[in-house]
Amino acid sequence: MVSSQGEPSIVTYQPHAFQHASPLQGAGAPAAPLLSIVVPVKNEEVNIAPFVARVQPILETIAKDEGWEILFVDDGSTDHTLVALIAAHAREPRVRVVSLSRNFGKEAALSAGLDHARGRAVVPLDVDLQDPPEVLPDMVAKWREGFETVIGVRRCRSSDPLVKRLTASLYYRAHNLLADEKIPEHAGDFRLLDRKVVDVLCKLPERSRFMKGLFAWAGFSQAVVEFDRVERQDGKTKFNYWKLWTLALDGITSSSTAPLRIWSYVGAIVAMLAMAYAGFVMVRTIMFGITVPGYASLIVSVLLLGGVQLISLGVLGEYVGRILTETKRRPLYVVRDTIGFPEASPPEA
Ligand code: UDP
Ligand code: MG
Repeated sequence: MVSSQGEPSIVTYQPHAFQHASPLQGAGAPAAPLLSIVVPVKNEEVNIAPFVARVQPILETIAKDEGWEILFVDDGSTDHTLVALIAAHAREPRVRVVSLSRNFGKEAALSAGLDHARGRAVVPLDVDLQDPPEVLPDMVAKWREGFETVIGVRRCRSSDPLVKRLTASLYYRAHNLLADEKIPEHAGDFRLLDRKVVDVLCKLPERSRFMKGLFAWAGFSQAVVEFDRVERQDGKTKFNYWKLWTLALDGITSSSTAPLRIWSYVGAIVAMLAMAYAGFVMVRTIMFGITVPGYASLIVSVLLLGGVQLISLGVLGEYVGRILTETKRRPLYVVRDTIGFPEASPPEA
């Protein structure tokens, strides 16, 4: 039963089955439902049942005949989330579960979900219902018009605390300044992805998964659906500011090498200033002789340069650390068990 998910497991799901299964071309293979909702969960026991109760009727109106699935990825929960998930599956077999062997983080859990989702369109959705599932019909409508990605964009972030809003906006600006592939501001992971996009994402080999950056990298045609983000229903956020900062670092280092290049320019500018200053000191010495004072300028330049060098080393370290992670080629996540995938769990396993 225990299986490690190294290389993209989408191979199991015969991409050709849905390659041409445009939503306009009838129901397609019964194995590929129209819509997969991918829900990473960590310690969310109280939120599972309300989530299914709210999302299920909406999915029934969208894809009653063409089929749907809700795919929960249990990201190493330590409470009774798994029990709640098993109960949800017993009530509704189209609720499926991938249970990871420990907490791998939301980005990895999302990757696990994308790897295991079989829908012709896939929508990641948080279990806390901050992103309203009522938007799903609009998303599917846009997708049926032919858009390959339909991004959910928050109309306002008033549900977030001020500091989070400010830091988020600062981050988006920094990211879009540095990275070639811009990420839309006020958009989370809540978006509809066509099977083509999902296949591309599943094939990406890198360990560092900053999903928003990867979505942007994948390209494809995009439409936008606006919505209001509400407060978390129950439980509390799993992302404190330190985790957000780490995520931000991951985001920038995985999407851009500009922070590395900056130091060449800083170095060049400092060297030029130093040369100009050397010229000035030489001229002054020739004209006025040697003057001893200079402690202040000396200590300032030593400390400043020391600081700049340490920062640049730190940036270098960030990238070297990531190279190390990538070269280890460990799987992104380890699946402990799956529930509701009859064909994916061979009897001898
Ligand atoms: N989550 C997860 N693994 C983690 C942290 C969070 O799967 O290590 C899930 C969590 O259960 C929720 C979603 O990711 O469904 C978003 O988390 P949260 O609501 O805490 O984030 P926020 O909305 O505050 O950014
Ligand atoms: Mg949330």
